[in-house]
Amino acid sequence: MSDKTLVIHTCCAPCSSLPIMLFDEMKIFYDINLEIDQIPNIIYYFYNPNIHPKEEYIIRRDELLRFAKEKNIHLVIEEDDNSSKWENAIEGFESEPEKGKRCEKCFELRLHKTFEYAKKIKGNYVATVMSISPHKNTDTINSIGKSLENKFNDIEFICFNFKKNDGFLKTTKISKEHNLYRQKYCGCKYSIR
Ligand code: SF4
Repeated sequence: MSDKTLVIHTCCAPCSSLPIMLFDEMKIFYDINLEIDQIPNIIYYFYNPNIHPKEEYIIRRDELLRFAKEKNIHLVIEEDDNSSKWENAIEGFESEPEKGKRCEKCFELRLHKTFEYAKKIKGNYVATVMSISPHKNTDTINSIGKSLENKFNDIEFICFNFKKNDGFLKTTKISKEHNLYRQKYCGCKYSIR
């Protein structure tokens, strides 16, 4: 274990379940060519002002808190006191379909905040669990993460693809085993079907 820190953005308990287990096993770090003495400490970071309505936000946040307690992980909850921040970020793209420009702006806002937190705590790496969703484009998420490295010197974005090896299927299994609340839509009011 190194003295470095990886901040992992999380969106909800089901999407985080498999990544939490993979990071716990540590094998995942060998996939990105990190040796045992280079493995960072991990902080999970919840920042999701996109989730609508407030009641749904609270359910998802609290479900992740419950799972974090069960798995004994370090989870930081970042509450947003400015609810218009997300609306401003996606302005002009409200009617875009899922996987479109609105989602890119939404990813960027949440990952930017994760970088800001990593900077605040002098962290070294940022990653996200969001690539696990079949409704989200992994390359888009990872290229947004990589582009943020330019603004935050000394913080590296680590690209993961949690969809691979039936990742999403595995999360549904873990969610059932742990009785995790699984939502029926991505998060924002435009994604409610
Ligand atoms: S569909 Fe999901 S990723 Fe896209 S803007 Fe809405 S909450 Fe964000």
